Amino acid sequence: MVRPVEGGHEVEVRLKADTTRIHPPEGGLHKMALEENLTRRQVLRAAIGGAAGLIVGAPRVFGQADSAAIRLKPDSTTQLADDLFVIRIPGEANVVAHTSSAGVLLVDGGSARAADAVMKAVAGLPGGGQVYTLFNTHWHPEQTGLNEQIGKAGKTIIAQENTRLWLAADVTWPWNGQKFTRLPKGAQPNKTFYDKGQLDSGIRYGYIPDCAHTDGDLYVHFPQQNVLAVGDVISGEGWPAVDWTTGGWVGGMVGGLQRVLSLTNEKTRIVPGRGPVLGLEDLKKQFDMYQTLYDRLTQLLNKGRGPSEAVEAKPAKEFEAQWGNADEFVRRSFESLWAYLSPDA
Ligand SMILES: [Zn+2]
Repeated sequence: MVRPVEGGHEVEVRLKADTTRIHPPEGGLHKMALEENLTRRQVLRAAIGGAAGLIVGAPRVFGQADSAAIRLKPDSTTQLADDLFVIRIPGEANVVAHTSSAGVLLVDGGSARAADAVMKAVAGLPGGGQVYTLFNTHWHPEQTGLNEQIGKAGKTIIAQENTRLWLAADVTWPWNGQKFTRLPKGAQPNKTFYDKGQLDSGIRYGYIPDCAHTDGDLYVHFPQQNVLAVGDVISGEGWPAVDWTTGGWVGGMVGGLQRVLSLTNEKTRIVPGRGPVLGLEDLKKQFDMYQTLYDRLTQLLNKGRGPSEAVEAKPAKEFEAQWGNADEFVRRSFESLWAYLSPDA
């Protein structure tokens, strides 16, 4: 593994304007790749994550190795409006369901092992019916476990184009060696966009280009109900996973929060990837917190510190009572700075 030297000389930190996606090592995916310049970020990512990309055929799993099917608790569905619901999967992601005469629209589908439980919950919703559209807020398996089923049924799967590209590639997380094999073609998003779009029903969606969680994050806005679903760009429970292998970084969390704030008003309810539904005040508090953490981490980077030293410095100490032990978050966040900020070489 090639990494910048820890504890080395003072470096001048500069924010790179480049937030284009980085292609997985197997590449050849898209003409965008040809248009990109090779930045330090790409070099770093290729160096850190490249070799492992050669391993194929591992099952696409997420989190625990336990593959037992998940059951939902009786109170796992929260009603936000007559036609809008949140299904909370224990220990996993939120699924948003909108019902109409056209059927059910979902924002994220839960993991594969939650698929049966989610479909059962969806079938039981008042005014429910067949799922006709599924959004993938990003590529993670906790969000895309229904893709195969929905895709096979010939229904629409909407994602930002970068998310489709990740789902069409094998990905390995260098920090724990976890491997994700590409989804079969029929399970990949079949309607993608770059910037934003709107459905006939008035439901809007758009790209969150700040790379808060991955480089393919999207929001779905239900204007009538004043509800915004944002996937893992925002967490309602516990520290978020900063997936810098596929573009996420801690600076993007600050930018992403700011962008989401600009889409809300005082009464907007925000459905995060995990945890309870949030309000504007919750977002403002999180924005302040991540801004503070970003400043502290970049200061540590400027002093030439490495990830382990950043963890030891306990930069998130005063927030741990609410959010839990931050060591893993701090390490991932610091590594994400390496991918985005670099010495002025
Ligand atoms: Zn995620």
